[in-house]
Amino acid sequence: MLSRIHQAIDNMFSEMVEIRRYLHQYPEVSFEEYQTAEYIANYYENLGIPYEKNIGGNGVIATLKGAKPGKTVALRADFDALAIQDEKDVPYKSKNPGAMHACGHDGHTATLLVLAKVMKEFQDELEGTIVFLHQHAEEETPGGAISIVGSGKLDDVDAVFGNHLWATSTLGNIETRQGVFMAGTDRFEITILGLGGHGAYPHQTKDAIVIGAEVVSQLQNIISRRIDPLKTAVITIGRFHAGTTFNIIANKATLIGTVRYLDPEIQSIVKEEMERVVKGICIANNAEYELKYSEGYPPVINHEEETELVFEASKHIAGVKNAIEVAPQMGGEDFAHYLNVKPGAFFFTGAKKEGHTYPHHHPKFDFDEKAMPIAAKMLIGAYFTYQEKHK
Ligand code: MN
Repeated sequence: MLSRIHQAIDNMFSEMVEIRRYLHQYPEVSFEEYQTAEYIANYYENLGIPYEKNIGGNGVIATLKGAKPGKTVALRADFDALAIQDEKDVPYKSKNPGAMHACGHDGHTATLLVLAKVMKEFQDELEGTIVFLHQHAEEETPGGAISIVGSGKLDDVDAVFGNHLWATSTLGNIETRQGVFMAGTDRFEITILGLGGHGAYPHQTKDAIVIGAEVVSQLQNIISRRIDPLKTAVITIGRFHAGTTFNIIANKATLIGTVRYLDPEIQSIVKEEMERVVKGICIANNAEYELKYSEGYPPVINHEEETELVFEASKHIAGVKNAIEVAPQMGGEDFAHYLNVKPGAFFFTGAKKEGHTYPHHHPKFDFDEKAMPIAAKMLIGAYFTYQEKHK
């Protein structure tokens, strides 16, 4: 059956491309993916596969029950876009100003929809139940995954697998790892409350820029001096906002940044040390501060057995040239929430275009569409290896 499924997926490559390019032209940013959700729901309507919409927001879940008994396995694709102006020069360029599928979620959706269409044809032979999990709002916290988990619609699922087309990895690669695969992603905002004044009389002020600058450099000392060098974390200040003009001392400075970590213990250290550093510097400079620390997506922690199943599945796919155990990524993914409640694994499917490639979230981002059938075969391959293993 597997080779017939692979053949059917290959035969529908042009439909996959067509869907992907349509979605690419009409991207919708996180939590506003109403039309996209409608498009997905309609597709299942036409296929005659039962589905539910508005799951935890704009999520859509379709369920294909095989004629034979077996496990229930969810395959996940996200479908939100980013607030980026598309700068590509291609016929399928975004038609929605300020919105762009710059992470490949259009490709994830096309992959899963066409896989559903293929698997509908195999329903009579199918063991177990495939849950096609279309998730909204991956790009923006709190994200869609947590509310989909909260909806209870996945309570009966035995395992969950997810793919990300990865435009900086070679076509033909499958990349993942057991255990922590992607980082936890937190956000913080520090406000230094100094005392403004005349640029010529600093002694009468509390210069928020000087204090803020000290905070910026001291925060990096948490990474180099407070964290075990064999463990890892990132602190990035993405925005430092202060001051108005050349001869005025800033009253206030606002620093916004992200923390990335792989181990929750490291997250606690960073949180604690950050508070101490900011507090200490402000005491030393007789200034006040506010620190808002928001925990974002937890790390993506792949389950051992299911990760092995992904590698096992990759062996039976002609398009896969290298299945590699990679180092953890410092990027994040809210797929983490599924893995916190269900066994499963998340993997990358190499989708690097020939020639110059732009990274994810770049205004000229694009990926090699030939990666989509590979991803579809990987997802269904994971499904079958899971069924096999749990007979
Ligand atoms: Mn993404």
